Amino acid sequence: MMFSPSKKLLATMVTCTLLTACGSSSDKDSSPEPKNGNAVGQVKNVILMIGDGMGPQQIGLLEEYARRAPNSVLPSTTTGLQQFADNGRIGLSMNAPMGANPSLVVDSACSATQLATGKGSISEAVGLDDQGNKVETILEKAKAMGKATGLITDTRLTHATPAAFAAHQPHRSYENEIAEDLLNVGVDVMLGGGSRHWVPNTDFAALAAELNAPTHVIKKSKRKDERNLIKEAQASGYGLAFTKAQLAQASGTKLLGLFDDSAMNDGIEYSNCKNGTVSAKCSDEPSLKEMTMKALDILSQDEDGFFLMIEGGQIDWAGHVNDTGWLLHEMLKFDEAVAAVYEWVKQRNDTLVVITADHETGGFGFAYHKHDLPEAKQLDGNGMNGHEYKPNFNFGALDTLDKIYAQNKSYYDIFDAVQADWDFSESTAAEWKAAVNASVHADFQVSDAESEGIAARTMNQNQVAGHSYLDVAELPLINDYSDFYVYPSDDHGPLISRAIAAKQSVAWSNGSHTAAPVPVYAYGPEDIANQFSTMQHHINIGQKLMDALINQAD
Ligand code: MG
Ligand code: ZN
Repeated sequence: MMFSPSKKLLATMVTCTLLTACGSSSDKDSSPEPKNGNAVGQVKNVILMIGDGMGPQQIGLLEEYARRAPNSVLPSTTTGLQQFADNGRIGLSMNAPMGANPSLVVDSACSATQLATGKGSISEAVGLDDQGNKVETILEKAKAMGKATGLITDTRLTHATPAAFAAHQPHRSYENEIAEDLLNVGVDVMLGGGSRHWVPNTDFAALAAELNAPTHVIKKSKRKDERNLIKEAQASGYGLAFTKAQLAQASGTKLLGLFDDSAMNDGIEYSNCKNGTVSAKCSDEPSLKEMTMKALDILSQDEDGFFLMIEGGQIDWAGHVNDTGWLLHEMLKFDEAVAAVYEWVKQRNDTLVVITADHETGGFGFAYHKHDLPEAKQLDGNGMNGHEYKPNFNFGALDTLDKIYAQNKSYYDIFDAVQADWDFSESTAAEWKAAVNASVHADFQVSDAESEGIAARTMNQNQVAGHSYLDVAELPLINDYSDFYVYPSDDHGPLISRAIAAKQSVAWSNGSHTAAPVPVYAYGPEDIANQFSTMQHHINIGQKLMDALINQAD
């Protein structure tokens, strides 16, 4: 929709009275932002933080916990995100696939590609436009300008979100090829998990010893060739890190850090670790915050500036499996990195920080319900006119937040406890009950009848031969919106969440993604940050990031 001239003028005037800096960037149409030389300036550095699957309700869970959990573990009620909100700008962003092959809902690969390129893209591809052409990303453009570049994730470095910034592949599943692309581009600092795509099938113990890596990091390969990309990286000048201690000691301007064969510690493992549980993974793995601080140390030494993308990648995974406890701990882990970035950037005027999500996952939300209805209560207020306070429904108690935090295992770890190979065809209600009740707060325990529902399975009526996910004979039995539960191996999780939904005051609507507009936080020079304070689309965010970082005269 275009504004008529008079409305547009009015909107500009209103904007100008609210904000100290004002430019043509306040135009609210969907056309690209003005190029450099118009109103909006540039920055030396861009930091993009992506909470994968972090929709408005996921942020709401974090903010409710921080502000109102009676026994919050946080030192402050002010989150890192809140600091950016207080001192920067907030907007919203639509995120669906745009261009010649559009859709209503986006996946992480397409969404990250649209952020990385400012152009429409296609579902499940990385670094390609809407026709399948390779497109230069903001990271590659920054590199070409002589800036330093970095990618950080707590999932695999070759997973869709980081991949979209430096790889060009027709499908996100080509993670071996994505690792090659990351190395070819020469991203200066790469920190995350997923060593299995970087090493060949070999004597892993011998390779771990040679690399001075823990055996739980170098233990598996998904490669089909003999290439050892870790050694190739070393030969081309990268320092290597496989543990928190090695990361802390690393020097030099190029660094490859691989801290797990697949995903790094999940949020609950990380919290357990901080709360004193000891394990090898726990003591060896750096946190998202520690990886972020190290990357900033290295990249900020480049006098040309830098581009850095930091992903909290498991927020999405908790969402897909409908695990509210895991989700909270992922939000806490991500926000710890967000707060650290705020501390780093708050005294600078040469850096733009944008924090957003690629999409919302799971249709998550607190909701009021008809379970455990409230008792009548006397209130002193002079408007009660002698009536008791007795709402019709249960609107949720604040101590639920502490009970959600108290979950001590992710649903994935509950799956492991029930059946290590995740073949649940023979698993019993008693096994599910024992595993769930050992892992959730006492008030969320499931009964025999509820655990029957968690264990329930049915024939797959829509088996698709050869499909990566749907070629299975039977599935967990989900009675609502089953078409939106697309990963059968995950779907006893949604059955757990349904069994404890009313006790948690939480409802989930699917196991995929929704098209919810996602929050955008922007911090930096005012004329640049102001551009993000609107309802925009992710391709607009990509364009604004490019305009802010990339020299348009080139
Ligand atoms: Mg991701
Ligand atoms: Zn997802």
